[in-house]
Amino acid sequence: MFNALVLQQEEQKTVAAVAQISESDLPQGEVLVQVDYSSLNYKDGLAVTGTGKIIREFPMVPGIDFVGTVVSSDDLRYQAGQQVVLTGWGVGENHWGGMAQKARVKADWLVPLNDSLTPLQSMQIGTAGLTASLCVMALQQANVQPEDGEILVTGASGGVGSVAVSLLSQLGYQVVAVTGRAENEAWLKQLGASRIVMRDEMLEKSRALDKQLWAGAVDTVGGPILAKVLSQINYDGAVAACGLANSFDLPTTVMPFILRAVKLIGVDSVYCPFDKRQAAWQLLAQQLPQDYYQQSCQTVALQQVPEQASNIIAGKVKGRIVVDLNQ
Ligand code: NAP
Repeated sequence: MFNALVLQQEEQKTVAAVAQISESDLPQGEVLVQVDYSSLNYKDGLAVTGTGKIIREFPMVPGIDFVGTVVSSDDLRYQAGQQVVLTGWGVGENHWGGMAQKARVKADWLVPLNDSLTPLQSMQIGTAGLTASLCVMALQQANVQPEDGEILVTGASGGVGSVAVSLLSQLGYQVVAVTGRAENEAWLKQLGASRIVMRDEMLEKSRALDKQLWAGAVDTVGGPILAKVLSQINYDGAVAACGLANSFDLPTTVMPFILRAVKLIGVDSVYCPFDKRQAAWQLLAQQLPQDYYQQSCQTVALQQVPEQASNIIAGKVKGRIVVDLNQ
């Protein structure tokens, strides 16, 4: 028997509690993994608190990502003792996830742990950091160069936002961080932001075309903020959009696209192909500074996940939260 956070549906409410489960409870899959760490992402917050309909079948073990060691494998690509990472593929949503001391998953969903990262670092990065890396790669592929001008990052204090700020800064970009929390200014500057813009300013009604201010942007919030970002992007600039922390709505016009050749690039980490995933992990392993792990990550035990899940949905979490399965 081993520990797991188990979500149940009781009187239309999601209830989360640590319970003992066994290997025979785990779903089908080719690879059994002893999990060292999972992490708390915005989507985990939605699942654990029951906000939004993330989970359709109960009981469910949440945890959209994890790192661990292969116990046994029916797939030749993975052997017992190998360290592996999983992000996405609906794990923690419709297949039992990483917030348990063991997980059984499909081999296709795994990647080997990057040689230059420790297991802890891989979950300090987690799905949020991987997504930030995919956003940065999207801007690079759209030919947004450091000399082109400032890059705006929205939801900057969150997991995706804070990794994006740090990574872009390390790559030589001038980064401007949008935040709703003025008290995070000094920390965001330590991460590499040259200055901050307050969220309220970005929530003011936007025009179809505003003054051109940004060479590119990483947007984690959607809604009217993304609309304003698009109206302020320089001619031929690009926005990598990955999130909806504000809203899934997008009240914009075609003007930035047809008059300024602005590109809006969608970023998804969940079904991202293996090679692109590996490239995103490699970028993080090479470029994310040690400072990021030290200044921006905290570790919690499984029992603390429900409380932290409420915090992430309330927009109170700063940086990244790792869940230590052995704590
Ligand atoms: P997070 O840690 O909660 O960060 C979100 C940040 O957005 C918060 O820290 C806050 O930063 C800001 N924020 C919160 N509520 C807001 C609101 N109502 N209006 C405007 N800004 C708000 O979440 P995360 O894990 O970084 O994820 C961020 C978003 O990306 C989520 O929507 C998540 O679902 C999405 N995501 C998508 C993918 C993908 O594959 N496409 C992968 C991972 C995450 P400040 O306090 O600094 O403003």
